[in-house]
Amino acid sequence: MIMNDVVSKTAQSIDFNDIVGLNSAKALLNETVVWPLILPQLFTGIREPWRGVLLFGPPGTGKTLLAKAVAGQNGSTFFNCSTATLVSKFRGESEKIVRCLFFLAKHHSPSVVFLDEVDALVGTRGAEGEHEASRRFKTELFVQIDGIVTGGSKEEPCLVTVLAASNNPWDLDEAMRRRLEKRIFVGLPDETVRKQMFTKHVESMGMAGGEGVDDRLMDILADRTEGYSGADVELVCREAKMKCMRRLLEKVDVEELVDATEMESGGGEASVTDED
Ligand code: ATP
Repeated sequence: MIMNDVVSKTAQSIDFNDIVGLNSAKALLNETVVWPLILPQLFTGIREPWRGVLLFGPPGTGKTLLAKAVAGQNGSTFFNCSTATLVSKFRGESEKIVRCLFFLAKHHSPSVVFLDEVDALVGTRGAEGEHEASRRFKTELFVQIDGIVTGGSKEEPCLVTVLAASNNPWDLDEAMRRRLEKRIFVGLPDETVRKQMFTKHVESMGMAGGEGVDDRLMDILADRTEGYSGADVELVCREAKMKCMRRLLEKVDVEELVDATEMESGGGEASVTDED
C-alpha cells in the first residue's frame, strides 16, 4: 500500500541540531509548526496557526531536511509526499489517495504532511491544456487542506500541518500559494556556515595522519566554496573520500579535500578531468 512509503515516525532520527546554520528558518518553523503541534491550546481563536507553510529557495539548501527535523522536534508523524506517491494514472485514484492521506494524518495527529517539490504536484492552475484529472486532484487537495483548518476548535485543536517545499515558487498554482500562507526562505549558506559544515564533515570522516580539524584549512575550504549549497559541500567531502579511496588511503588527505572544491558551484556536479 502506498501509505507505507509516505508515513514515517522520523521523530527519533533527525532534529534541528543535525542541521547546520539556517537559524532564522528554524526559529520560524518552531513558531509556525512545532509549537502549534506541541501546545495546540495556545494556538486557537485569534492565535490560529498558519494552515500551510512553504519552504522555498535554491536546490540542496536543506528544505527537505528541515521538514523532517520539524517532525523530529515534536515527535509527530511525518507524511513524506511527492508527485510519485500521490499521483496515479488510474482515474479517480489520486483523489482517493489524497483523501486517505489526510484521513491518516488526522488519525495519527499530531502530524506533518510534507509536500516535496509542490510546484510539480500543483503547478499553475488553468494552464492551457491542463488535464481534467489534474484539476480534480487539485480540487480534492484544496478541500482536504481547508478541511484541516475548519476542523480545528478550542476543544479539538488542529493538529495537522501542511508543509511544502519548492525551488520554483513562482510556478506554484495561485490557489495553492494562498493556502501556504507562511513562506520561509531557505538560502545558500554563507562563509561561516560553510565552515561549520566542513568542520562537521571532517570531524565525522577523520583526517589522514591523525590530524584533528585544522581551523585554517576550514577557512580555506569555506572561502573556496562561495555559492555552494549544503548538498554541494557534502558532495565535495564525498568526492575527497573517493579520491582518497583510489589512493588506498584510509582517511581523508588535506590535499584531496582542497582539490575536491574545484567543482561547478550550484551545479552539484564535481568537475571531471582526464586525470580522473
Ligand atoms: P531540493 O530542493 O533539491 O529537494 P533541498 O533544499 O530539499 O533540495 P535537502 O534534500 O534537504 O535539500 O538537502 C540535501 C542534502 O544536503 C542533505 O541530505 C544534507 O546532507 C545536505 N544539507 C543541505 N543543507 C544542509 C544543512 N544546512 N545542514 C546539514 N546538511 C545539509
